[in-house]
Amino acid sequence: MRLGDSQDEGEFRTRLRDWLSGQIPAGVPQEWDSERLRAWSKSLYQAGYAGLSWPVEHGGRGLPAAYQAIYAEESALAGAPDHVNVIGLNMVGPTIIKYGTQAQLAEFLPGILSGETIFCQGFSEPDAGSDLASVRTRARAHPKGYQVDGEKVWSSYAHLADYCLLLVRTDPEAVKHHGLTCLLMDMRAPGVQVRPLRELSGDTDFNQVILTDVVVGADSVLGPVGQGWRVAMTTLAHERGTFGITLTSRLSAELDRLVQTVLTLGAGSDPLVRKEIAELHVQLQGLRFTGYRALAELQRTGEPGAESSILKLGWSLANQRLTALALRVLGPDAAFDGPQAFWSGYWQQQHLRSRTNSIEGGTSEILRGIVAERVLGLPRTR
Ligand SMILES: Cc1cc2nc3c(=O)[nH]c(=O)nc-3n(C[C@H](O)[C@H](O)[C@H](O)COP(=O)(O)OP(=O)(O)OC[C@H]3O[C@@H](n4cnc5c(N)ncnc54)[C@H](O)[C@@H]3O)c2cc1C
Repeated sequence: MRLGDSQDEGEFRTRLRDWLSGQIPAGVPQEWDSERLRAWSKSLYQAGYAGLSWPVEHGGRGLPAAYQAIYAEESALAGAPDHVNVIGLNMVGPTIIKYGTQAQLAEFLPGILSGETIFCQGFSEPDAGSDLASVRTRARAHPKGYQVDGEKVWSSYAHLADYCLLLVRTDPEAVKHHGLTCLLMDMRAPGVQVRPLRELSGDTDFNQVILTDVVVGADSVLGPVGQGWRVAMTTLAHERGTFGITLTSRLSAELDRLVQTVLTLGAGSDPLVRKEIAELHVQLQGLRFTGYRALAELQRTGEPGAESSILKLGWSLANQRLTALALRVLGPDAAFDGPQAFWSGYWQQQHLRSRTNSIEGGTSEILRGIVAERVLGLPRTR
């Protein structure tokens, strides 16, 4: 496995690093509200950093996944946030490229790339999270296409989104994984109600989406009717793509911030703090190389391998451990909030947000099951 950059990759990294350093002030972590995020996303597009691995004929730059990984590493080091259309760019766009009609390609891809058409992902329901095939949101035949009724939860960015990649049940008689269909639903259609859910961290990045008699045109079906499971699995495979590299790069930047915090607060000679930091560093190096293995597999086969499950599991635990250590180092000052707090409460916020890491994108229990069955070859339990 080659771990260093090729000459072209190295030049790309240098240009990107220079560009990022001109965009994002170094030092204390920044606040990003949705307006600032949109402006940031637009500048990413204008500078040619949106859709790096999308095919050229669909408006991307047609670069190998390694370039997306370089983008992930450098943007994490620079403290850059996610693109506001992270779901559209990384997950929905590639799914439309695979399954979309010519009309859908023309209608959605340019706006996804430029950040003007924001997508959310409407898969989870109150009784369909880990067991996604239990989706009950119903789409019945309607003269214009389908009439949709049901409820989705935890839809990240649904309050900002223009469209939703929605997983619905079109055939209630069919067995679980069959009878599902994917729709590209207009979030402003009558009957779509978005209710923000407040997270433990105080953020309201995700939502409940109530759907009452929503009419969706027949031309909004993505992929074959009744084959929504296959379409949804394509979306989830893209979620895992180079995401592992993004996660470990962010964790590495976070560990640097923790070391900075430890030194600023004079805790650098505390033996327990030193031990924890050394262990986190070792853990992180393990994750980093697992990320490179996942990338090598992705480049070889086009599909992310089981490494991505190990990576997501290890990353969530390490991130929770890191932010818990940050609060221990802050000591009683961890109780402060807002401008009085160290870095305006950055670590408090990160710690609370890290609780979701072992739930979002596949819970730790589910990932352990995947590792047991698909990596270690243990018998299936269900
Ligand atoms: C921050 C965040 C953002 C999210 N964004 C989105 C989004 O944009 N779109 C979207 O559709 N969804 C989103 N989700 C939802 C996420 O995908 C689900 O929360 C996740 O799949 C778990 O489903 P659940 O919450 O229904 O829990 P459940 O599946 O009900 O699980 C409850 C508990 O039971 C355990 N469990 C369940 N089945 C098994 C099993 N077979 N073996 C062992 N243990 C098991 C789980 O691990 C968990 O601990 C988001 C979630 C979070 C936290």
